[in-house]
Amino acid sequence: MDRRKMITALALVALSIGLLVWNLDEDKGRFFHNEGRIFGTVYHIQYEHTQDMHDTIIACLEEVDNALSMFNTSSIISRINRNEDIAANQDFETVFIQAQEVSRLSNGAFDITVAPLVNAWGFGFENQLDMTQEKTDSIRKTVGYEKVQLENHHIVKQSKDVCLDASAIAKGYACDKVAERLMRSGVKNLLVEIGGEVVAKGHNSKNARWTIGITKPIDDTSGQQQQLQDKIQTSELCLATSGNYRNFYYDGSQKRSHTIDPRTGCPVRHSLLSATVTAHSCMKADALATACMVLGDTAALQMIDSIKDAECYLIIAENDSLVVRTSTHWTLTE
Ligand code: ADP
Ligand code: MG
Repeated sequence: MDRRKMITALALVALSIGLLVWNLDEDKGRFFHNEGRIFGTVYHIQYEHTQDMHDTIIACLEEVDNALSMFNTSSIISRINRNEDIAANQDFETVFIQAQEVSRLSNGAFDITVAPLVNAWGFGFENQLDMTQEKTDSIRKTVGYEKVQLENHHIVKQSKDVCLDASAIAKGYACDKVAERLMRSGVKNLLVEIGGEVVAKGHNSKNARWTIGITKPIDDTSGQQQQLQDKIQTSELCLATSGNYRNFYYDGSQKRSHTIDPRTGCPVRHSLLSATVTAHSCMKADALATACMVLGDTAALQMIDSIKDAECYLIIAENDSLVVRTSTHWTLTE
């Protein structure tokens, strides 16, 4: 081969290697950011991929809504609440089974049958009642997670008055489901956030770990307050936060929060302002975070320390200031 042919051949090889590298780069994709509203809240989803997946994400969120939203009158949960003869689907069963496990772990602090109390106190899909002790006691008789079972894909209730509310676990489940759907299409780096519940994997568009903020629990029904109490940096995490600073109202001087203690039948009243929980799934973290809010800080720490895959970060009001208490193996913040 003469010199000129040799140079041409080398140039071609170099060009094809260049093309190959360029192609590999193209396959790596770029970061997309999708956002919108679902379950009465906002979602923000970032992922690295070769194409926009927003349509798939919306379809996925609608599947969860069609199974678990009490505000969607044709959802499976609404039809079960109206005692129609309807079979559960995979989404419903996965969430129901996890809800029952968290009820057992929390000694009934988390309870998917809390719906009639949630409605009566004005946080549900029905009109608020004028609550008295008698009314509370009477409604409380219809509440109890042992009053419902899944049998052969059907929910069997002890009485027709038993009603289900999956609001405290559905957002977490939706995060798991969207993350799984994205990963199934080849996504490795993602951050799925729905109303404060989060699944994070891999890295962000700057090739750094994802940063997740824990909000300062300052009363704010607008959801605009963004001051942070702490930050977490992570490349693998399922996390959920429950709090009584965004969904509450005042009855005279009495603050009524949207977390109901199934044991008293009333909205909880204690100094635990927010509970952030990590677990193997965001669905489990979500349900556990609500259970923590019912239990209060000391019992919540005891429960979380007894669960192998769970850790928590609690913010408590103490003498006009905020105090943080964490479970024994919490390492995500300094
Ligand atoms: P957030 O993430 O908005 O703070 P949660 O995950 O704690 O909310 O869910 C609160 C909702 O869960 C309430 O609005 C109500 O519908 C329902 N809920 C209230 N108390 C309980 C309870 N003890 N167990 C299960 N669900 C509850
Ligand atoms: Mg929850």
